[in-house]
Amino acid sequence: MCGIVGISAESNVAAEIYDSLLMLQHRGQDAAGMSVCDQNDKLTTRKSMGYVRDVFQQMHMDKLIGNYGIGHVRYPTAGGNGKEFAQPMYVNSPYGISLSHNGNLTNSSQLSNELFHAEMRHLLTDSDSEVLLNVFAHELGKQREIYPSAEHIFKAVTKTHIRCEGAYAVLALITGHGILAFRDENGIRPLSIGIRKGKSRDEYIIASEDSLFIPLGFKKFRDIEPGEAIFIDKDGNLFSEQCSESPRKSPCIFEYVYFSRPDSKIDEISVYKARMRMGSKLADQIKEIRPNHDIDVVIPIPDSSTTAAHQLAVDLGVPYREGFVKNRYIGRTFIMPYQEERKKSVRRKLNILDLEFQGKNVLLVDDSIVRGTTSKKIIEMAREAGAKKVYFASAAPAIKYQNLYGIDMAATSELIASNKTDDEVAKEINTDWLIYQRLEDLIDAAKIGNPEIEHFETSIFTGKYITPLVENYLEELENSRKDELKVQREKSQAS
Ligand code: AMP
Repeated sequence: MCGIVGISAESNVAAEIYDSLLMLQHRGQDAAGMSVCDQNDKLTTRKSMGYVRDVFQQMHMDKLIGNYGIGHVRYPTAGGNGKEFAQPMYVNSPYGISLSHNGNLTNSSQLSNELFHAEMRHLLTDSDSEVLLNVFAHELGKQREIYPSAEHIFKAVTKTHIRCEGAYAVLALITGHGILAFRDENGIRPLSIGIRKGKSRDEYIIASEDSLFIPLGFKKFRDIEPGEAIFIDKDGNLFSEQCSESPRKSPCIFEYVYFSRPDSKIDEISVYKARMRMGSKLADQIKEIRPNHDIDVVIPIPDSSTTAAHQLAVDLGVPYREGFVKNRYIGRTFIMPYQEERKKSVRRKLNILDLEFQGKNVLLVDDSIVRGTTSKKIIEMAREAGAKKVYFASAAPAIKYQNLYGIDMAATSELIASNKTDDEVAKEINTDWLIYQRLEDLIDAAKIGNPEIEHFETSIFTGKYITPLVENYLEELENSRKDELKVQREKSQAS
């Protein structure tokens, strides 16, 4: 998962790109970067591993001069973890193109072969973003135009759509020309555009989430449509075109469950409201299955479940209590590379208020259960704190399949629900009652916010992937994600 942003303004954009990246930090904490270009076509880039505040020091900001630019925060989903994977990535021909990508290509190795053998392009990494950049660069270069127009650029995007499979929300900076944004034909990953009045022209921001528009003085213009491309030239003129013959809006439902900030609207659906409805749907299910339930208190697992948990408590008419206090200064535990580390860090990250548990039947609520590490540990903590019964509700249905579209969750075999029934999962995490959101309820919770969306990307729950898959892709991805194989790989690289 990653966050991307691009700004085109009358004056320097680096400070605002920096602020945007801070507001997108939840989408990736592994690396950050930005590229800006000035009116003399001078391109400047700074990128490195780490949090946004660590990557950019005053000395870097002083050099980042330009009135249009793009930025990126990275959370690795494909490829490795080193400095060379930080974005924006750059290719020098044609024009010098920098690119920030959120998503994951599912035919990356096939494209990388084509790029090497047929198009004589050498790639430095196994990153799918570098593949995407080179495919686009190749298609733009083929037009052999010294001064590309929006039309030439859109033609290259059309060709890129034809060649690339998977999820990609993209911002590219074409040196000396402007910034380009495009979204895959299914619109799996989010991307929207905001606008504000400058002195003599409109200024634009394009980003993964719209919650950063208002703080920066922009107002939302609209979402970028699946398959659509937007080009803002270096003087601020905006062009847009649908570059796909068969766009089909299918936003990733997990953005609403977990990833996006609650103050964002993704494809016109308020993330906050969708989470409230997830809570209401869980309450309805509880009332239906156990009308005489004995839940004394609802306790969220902070932060991403709090909105759903609060609404669930209100609808059940049961008190809502904060039973866990989160240390905000520890990175997300999930991102810790191996299982032992993850287990230890749950305790360090969440401390328990035992008075809220003593002698009570508690309903713990989380947004999702992935490997089960958090839920198992939390249930153990609740019991140690003196809870009588510990129930557990997940705002998302059981996650049974790996994610191919830009969310690094786990290999299928590492997902606790991959080959277990709900009862078996309940036993494994040691809860007295496990309530999973029903898929149709989750879809409803999102869809009510924008009934025009007919389809959501839900493959982690169903195993039905919405893009064609290259042979062996699932297996390759599974192997690259398994903890044990990661350890072996690292050992052999070290020796
Ligand atoms: P687990 O402990 O493996 O079951 O993970 C569940 C927790 O991880 C939940 O509290 C979620 O909020 C969080 N989570 C879910 N998906 C992701 C993800 N892709 N990256 C990081 N954290 C996640």
